[in-house]
Amino acid sequence: MATDLPGLCVDYPNPDLWFAGGSARSGAIRKAIRICGNCPCRLACLEYVTETELSIPGAYGHRYGVAGGLTARQRKLARKAAA
Ligand code: SF4
Repeated sequence: MATDLPGLCVDYPNPDLWFAGGSARSGAIRKAIRICGNCPCRLACLEYVTETELSIPGAYGHRYGVAGGLTARQRKLARKAAA
């Protein structure tokens, strides 16, 4: 966590939403993104994950999950747009 504030995903009863796969994937992702949208540390989370997910060896969770309100693909596209 990049801030002292607890992210809404920290104590969420089903943390798998942020890393969903299979047939429930799209619904879970939409729900995770909606929760991220109400998170008090969303911007700090997005900044942290954007800065670290490519530089930390083995940071696969960041590369494949929803973080900061964006999917891994959306973060990748945002990095390309900012380059
Ligand atoms: S923005 Fe989303 S992934 Fe990041 S701490 Fe908040 S709920 Fe968790």
